[in-house]
Amino acid sequence: ALRLAAQRRAVDQVLAPLRLSRDDLEKVQALMREEMERGLCKETNATASVRMLPTYVSHTPDGTEQGDFLALDLGGTNFRVLVVRVTEEGISMASEIYVIPAAIMQGTGEELFDHIMDCIIDFQMKQKLMAQTLPLGFTFSFPCQQLGLDKALLLTWTKGFSASGCVGEDIVQLLRDAAKRKRHLGMQVVALVNDTVGTMMACGYDDPRCEIGLIVGTGTNACYMEEMRNVGTVEGDEGRMCINMEWGAFGDNGCLDHLFTHFDKVVDESTINPGKQRFEKLISGMYLGEIVRQILMVMVQKELLFQGKPCPKLQTKDIFKTKFLSTIELNGLALGQIRAILNELELDATFEDSSLMREVCQTVSMRAAQLCAAGLAAVVEKMRENRGLDQLSVTVGVDGTLYKLHPCFSRNLQKTLKDLAPKCDVSFLLSEDGSGKGAALVAAVAYRAA
Ligand code: ADP
Repeated sequence: ALRLAAQRRAVDQVLAPLRLSRDDLEKVQALMREEMERGLCKETNATASVRMLPTYVSHTPDGTEQGDFLALDLGGTNFRVLVVRVTEEGISMASEIYVIPAAIMQGTGEELFDHIMDCIIDFQMKQKLMAQTLPLGFTFSFPCQQLGLDKALLLTWTKGFSASGCVGEDIVQLLRDAAKRKRHLGMQVVALVNDTVGTMMACGYDDPRCEIGLIVGTGTNACYMEEMRNVGTVEGDEGRMCINMEWGAFGDNGCLDHLFTHFDKVVDESTINPGKQRFEKLISGMYLGEIVRQILMVMVQKELLFQGKPCPKLQTKDIFKTKFLSTIELNGLALGQIRAILNELELDATFEDSSLMREVCQTVSMRAAQLCAAGLAAVVEKMRENRGLDQLSVTVGVDGTLYKLHPCFSRNLQKTLKDLAPKCDVSFLLSEDGSGKGAALVAAVAYRAA
C-alpha cells in the first residue's frame, strides 16, 4: 500500500502541470479576448498573435442561394474538386479526390497551379461540364490577407506546402493565370474562403444561428461574425464580416508560456515550425499523440510504467497516434484493445500499466478540449457583448476528425464552455463536406451580387 501511495504521488507529480484549474482557463479566455481586440485594431494588428483576418464574407446563407458551382478544397488532408448543385430542394454534389505529389507541393507555384488546373479539367470532362462556364469557389486553408472575396495574398504556407513564388501573391490570380495558360474557359473564380468559413457557411445553410466555424483536425482554427465597426483593418462600419481568427497561432508572442510543460516544449522543438502555432500544438490531432508519447517516456524513465523496462520503440517520433487516444479512452474498454496497441509498440503491459496509460491520454485530451473551450468562450462572450444581449443563442459549425471521432473531446469542450460562458447558449453542428459546400455557397452569394 505504501508503494502504491508513493507511485500515485509520483504520477500526480508528472501530470500536475497538464491539469488546468478553472482559474487557468479563465486567464486563457481573457488573454484570447485581449489578442482578438489587438488583432482587430489597425494599430496593433501586426503584433497580435491571432491575426483576425477579414474574409469579406458578410452574410451567412439565407436559403435562397441557387445554381451550379465548382468548388476546390486545398489544404486539408486531400485535394478535392467538386461540383455543387444548390437548388430550392437542397444541395447535392459530386467530387473527386486528386493527389498532389510532394514534388509539386514543394516545387514552383506555376507547377502547383498547372497541376490544379489539370485536375479541374479532368474533373469537368468526367462530369461532362465542359460546355459551360461555372462560377468557382476555392476553399484554401492557408493564412491569407484578403483584400476582397476574390483577392487573397498568401501570408505563409503551412502543412507541408512550400511551392515557390506564392507567398505575397494573390492566390486567385495565380489560379486565373494557370487557367489562361491552359486556355480553359470553363470556370470563373469568384471567391476564396478559409476552411473555417466554409464550415460555418455549410452549417449556416441548415441552421441560421450558425455564426461560428471551428476546425479541430490536423490543426485547429476558428472564424466568427464580427461587427464591421470593430474591424479596424477594413473600411466601413455597417453590418458584419466573418473574421478568420487563425487562432492556432495564439500564444506565439509568449502570452501562454506559463502553460507549456516540459512535454509541450519537447514536442514543439521537434516540429518544422518551432515556436509557431503554439495554441494549435496543445490542441490538435497532429500533436496530441506526440505529447502522450513524451509523457510515457518520462514515466518509463521514472519506473512508473512497464516496471521500468526500457522500450526503444517509444523513442520513434509519431509512433503513438492521436487515434490511439480515442481507442484508449473509449468507455468500458477491454484491456485487450490497449494490449493490441501496445503490441504495435512491442510493449507488454499489465492492467496497472493500461489504466495509467488511459489516465495520461485523458489528461492530455481533457486539457486540449478545455483550452479550445476557453478560446471559444472568448468568442461567444465577445459576440454577446457586441450585440448588447443578456443571453446569446448561437451555433458553432464544426469539422475535423479529432472533434468528430474522439469519444470525450466534444463533451468536455461543451461542458467547459458552459462553465466559462454561462450567458451563452451554444449548440454544435457537425459539418458534412463543409469546405466544398461552403465555398459554393460563398460563390453563390458573390455571383448573385456580381
Ligand atoms: P484535416 O484537418 O487535415 O482536414 P482531419 O480532420 O481528417 O484532417 O484530421 C486529421 C487528424 O485527425 C490527424 O492528425 C489524426 O491524428 C487525427 N485522427 C485521425 N483519426 C482519429 C481518431 N480516431 N481520433 C482522434 N483523432 C484522430
